[in-house]
Amino acid sequence: MWDMISNFIFGAVFAHLITRIPFITFPRLKTWNEQFPPHPEPIYVDGHLIQRVLHMRMFYWLAIIFAIIPLFFGWASLRYGSASLGFGMWAVSCWLILNRLTAFISSENAPWSKKMAIELQMIRNECDSEQSCCSIPHPVWQITAVRCTNCGMNLKSMPRPDLGRPRKDGKIRGFVRLLLTDGRPIVANEDQN
Ligand SMILES: [Zn+2]
Repeated sequence: MWDMISNFIFGAVFAHLITRIPFITFPRLKTWNEQFPPHPEPIYVDGHLIQRVLHMRMFYWLAIIFAIIPLFFGWASLRYGSASLGFGMWAVSCWLILNRLTAFISSENAPWSKKMAIELQMIRNECDSEQSCCSIPHPVWQITAVRCTNCGMNLKSMPRPDLGRPRKDGKIRGFVRLLLTDGRPIVANEDQN
């Protein structure tokens, strides 16, 4: 009985880890982050940031491709090895695929979305236009909102998700936090407070 439970948990954790590889590892290479200030400092809103949001979105969707790995091992395990191990892998992979599909339909669920990139671009455009908040706008994305550091105006209340920078809270703690939150911001939107 305990064997079955531990095999199931092992399979589930394996599948969870594999499917999070893209967004936890790929963007965190040093050369990928030279244009950004270190985590968790605010990030200046420019083309680099918008591109990073789109990259994070791509890694988020890449998880579906990575889900094929535990689906395959799960199938092999169900067929030739431990059924509970295979079932654990299948349960998590199928859950992930379902989760991404609902995110695709509602587009509200994803930590990074095209809508988010468009909103950042609109803030950028407004800062470059005559309707800017002040004469020298300097928009940065802080933890809960995009603000201008020159005049202090709140340009958009939008909690900042993980942006793929190496985490300041340490490799292991940062890793665990990302595994648990899937990159979503932990703070609530300021408007809701
Ligand atoms: Zn301003």
